[in-house]
Amino acid sequence: MFAQLKGLFSNDIGIDLGTANSLVFVRDRGIVLREPSVVAIQAGTNNVLAVGEEAKRMLGRTPGNIIAIRPMKDGVIADFDVTGAMLRHFIQRVHHRKLIAPRVVVAVPSGITEVEKRAVKDSVTHAGAREVYLIEQPMASAIGVGLPVHEPAGNMIVDIGGGTCEMAIISLAGIVFSRSLRVGGDEFDETTVAHMKRAHNLMIGERTAEEIKIRIGSAYPLEQELTMDVKGRDLSTGLPKTITVRSEEIREALKEPLSSILEAIRITLERCPPELAADLVDRGIVMAGGGALLRGIDRLVAEETFLPVHIADDPLTAVAEGTGRVLQELSFLKRVASSSS
Ligand code: ADP
Ligand code: MG
Repeated sequence: MFAQLKGLFSNDIGIDLGTANSLVFVRDRGIVLREPSVVAIQAGTNNVLAVGEEAKRMLGRTPGNIIAIRPMKDGVIADFDVTGAMLRHFIQRVHHRKLIAPRVVVAVPSGITEVEKRAVKDSVTHAGAREVYLIEQPMASAIGVGLPVHEPAGNMIVDIGGGTCEMAIISLAGIVFSRSLRVGGDEFDETTVAHMKRAHNLMIGERTAEEIKIRIGSAYPLEQELTMDVKGRDLSTGLPKTITVRSEEIREALKEPLSSILEAIRITLERCPPELAADLVDRGIVMAGGGALLRGIDRLVAEETFLPVHIADDPLTAVAEGTGRVLQELSFLKRVASSSS
């Protein structure tokens, strides 16, 4: 009985609006939804045909009258209507037959503009939220991995997502310095596609490239190098073909996007006030986001910065977990919301 009653009321929601994946956290229940940030719509209309996994399967293989869109692909909102439809879909899936409208915290990429923030708030309000708060993803990520963000000490988070890499130095629950670059896991996939074309004359799709990255990709030499058989289309004959790919060559292909990320980390550290920089010598850098799962990325970053580097226990859920913790701390929530809206 009590549990049922509680279900009617405690329905506050945290959303990680990611460039590749969106996650929804419901208070007292945890993460209840994880779906790719993809929407399939009917061409020339705003009719939503599918959202999430179902829509992702359509990416790259839709007939002319269906378009599959990643509305957050580059960490900016490319299409307000589609992003709004996606948010509404996610909220409606987790929030049904409740007496009280939920409070919603949305973690947004730190690079989005005021106009984009307003559009997110409006969409969430239209979806039935009672109150809407926005939090920047690096802050949510830092909270989610359990960094002591309230302390008067420097904490650094680097979150590598699909479309963006966001990094921030946080102290006293505020962002001291942050940087967002449009380089992330998608770029790793793109340079892998380019490498296969150049080195093997083989055309592969981005999903195959992602699979190569996940199965044999690395940022630092591996104790045991790996190989993988990759199918694609031979560009000279036009026929399907299989090629064995080595982890060394994929590492080489990932060098360029990785060096952009290293460069941004260096600049962030240079801008860091000296007292906070001193804290980082002990505390190090915490990495989250799906890109932090790339083999050896911690060793690469540690070698470049001379700082200890820790990978979050579950890099893909850090931001969503962070929104969940924020939901439980209304006073913090109000403070963060008023400083970022
Ligand atoms: P976002 O927050 O932007 O939605 P995510 O944090 O969900 O992004 O991370 C998605 C990215 O992580 C994708 O580019 C995906 O290919 C990449 N990724 C997921 N798992 C791995 C892995 N094991 N190794 C390397 N990259 C990975
Ligand atoms: Mg993310």
